[in-house]
Amino acid sequence: MSKNWLDIVGSVKRPQLGEDVPILIFRAFRIYSGEYLRDLMGEKGAVVLFQNAGRELGRSLGEKLISDSITTYLENVRTFMKESKIGLLIPEDLDEHRGVFKIDECITCSGIPNIGSRICHFEAGFVAGILEFFTKKRVKATETKCNAMGEGVCEVTVEIENAQGK
Ligand SMILES: [Zn+2]
Repeated sequence: MSKNWLDIVGSVKRPQLGEDVPILIFRAFRIYSGEYLRDLMGEKGAVVLFQNAGRELGRSLGEKLISDSITTYLENVRTFMKESKIGLLIPEDLDEHRGVFKIDECITCSGIPNIGSRICHFEAGFVAGILEFFTKKRVKATETKCNAMGEGVCEVTVEIENAQGK
């Protein structure tokens, strides 16, 4: 993706309505689009699409929050996610091969009843993109826990590829 959409979507002109949107509406937009894409592309295709979209956002944001130190960088990401109310990012574990991140109070799944499937593919991709921008390596992400699966938290597990590039 050549554009950094963050530079474009941040311009809001809503003098009467302001910048905030109820979370119900965010989730409705998100879930309806997701369901439609699943019908259109199948489960696997929809997961990849959402993950890759999240990955692009993670990379774009990474560019804005970058630091020489991974600790400072992740702290910047955590602050951004908290201030923009995406969720509370908690790095549980991270080395050069693998990592586990929790997203407490996740924008998408927090409080959702157990519907028997994990739904935060965008968030999983987002965490991967954040790490890809820092490491310059390919990062594979899997959502390993989700409130929508009755697991009480949103959790993303990442695998960082050893070889440079692909
Ligand atoms: Zn979630």
